[in-house]
Amino acid sequence: MQDKHYLLIPGPTPVPPSVLQAMSRPMIGHRSEEFAALHRRIQEKIKHVFQTEHEVFILTCSGTGGLEAAVANVLSPGDRVLALITGNFGERFANIARAYGAEVDEVHFGWGSDVDLAVVKEKLARGGYKAVLATHNETSTGVLNDIAGIGALVAETPALLLVDGVSSVGGVEIKMDEWHVDVLVTASQKAMMLPPGLAMIGVSPKAWRVIEENRAPRFYFSLPAARKSLEKWNTPYTPNVTLFQGLDAALDMMLAEGLENVYRRHRLLARATRNAVRALGLELLAGDACASPTVTAVKSPPGIPADDLRRVLKAEFGITFAGGQGILKGKIFRIAHMGFADKMDVMVAVSGLEMALARMNYPVELGRGVRAAQETFLGREQR
Ligand SMILES: *Cc1c(COP(=O)(O)O)cnc(C)c1O
Repeated sequence: MQDKHYLLIPGPTPVPPSVLQAMSRPMIGHRSEEFAALHRRIQEKIKHVFQTEHEVFILTCSGTGGLEAAVANVLSPGDRVLALITGNFGERFANIARAYGAEVDEVHFGWGSDVDLAVVKEKLARGGYKAVLATHNETSTGVLNDIAGIGALVAETPALLLVDGVSSVGGVEIKMDEWHVDVLVTASQKAMMLPPGLAMIGVSPKAWRVIEENRAPRFYFSLPAARKSLEKWNTPYTPNVTLFQGLDAALDMMLAEGLENVYRRHRLLARATRNAVRALGLELLAGDACASPTVTAVKSPPGIPADDLRRVLKAEFGITFAGGQGILKGKIFRIAHMGFADKMDVMVAVSGLEMALARMNYPVELGRGVRAAQETFLGREQR
């Protein structure tokens, strides 16, 4: 049926009606008083989501643009960087740093595992790093990394901690100031419940000292230019005004629900999804201790190519799961429960999964996963 889709991928994610409505308002000039008031409202609210007292800059670009802004402003050619890699997005962050001439020391923890703090400690003890790159929520594997733990270690060194929070901020707790995160990046189309097109970047005082000294070239992504404009609730270049209007509404939604409740909801959805997957006898990629609250990666069972399963889900049930990336391509599928997601989205995902497996002649007991998810939501978990 036309227009009846269940978009369960880790970005872009479904956009709530109130956000769509906010974005359908008439255009305003970006140098107007109305825009300044809008920008100011956003600034006050987004600081809560980042848990920072410092400014959060809103850039018109995708999440990767935000990561590039972090790198371009902090690093100079020849700088030594420690990249903590747990999957595809960790690799991308390292590649951006390399593109800007940094000397990147990559540490790979494996696809499906989280960052081992003992290794970070050992690496930092040798010293000499200008920055440490970490991914909060590794979207490609459904793994959540311990940013508080990494932050405590990096804070004892002169290095800056740059965090990719693209698929966590707005769905998973992050305390930028308390956890000693120096640059925190997120994007609009993941847990922030907006269409793609904005990146948000928080900057610590420790990072500003480095950024101000940095002589490496930057123009569109210049954070000093963004800071100067923000003094007048402005942006250096034309921003995506429509998405700013949407962001204002999305932040209202998050704060009305309460951030604690938002985080609890994501954890519950992840747990129900994981219980259902286990009940069906399928294997989860990430262990419970490092499981992502916003996306669950599942190993496709023997004899069932993940991408064929996804094709059946899409064609027959209108459900879209994400596939695997990099070395996991064709081997896993990923179910997002990110942003504008609630219990019944998980029920759709699980019952669709059961039917698709049955369609592919995989021996599945219909209703088993559904029941496990239902019991989780009813507080009758068998674990
Ligand atoms: C989606 C994502 C990105 C990339 O964002 P784009 O908006 O596609 O550029 C980066 N990091 C993580 C962890 C992501 O999930």
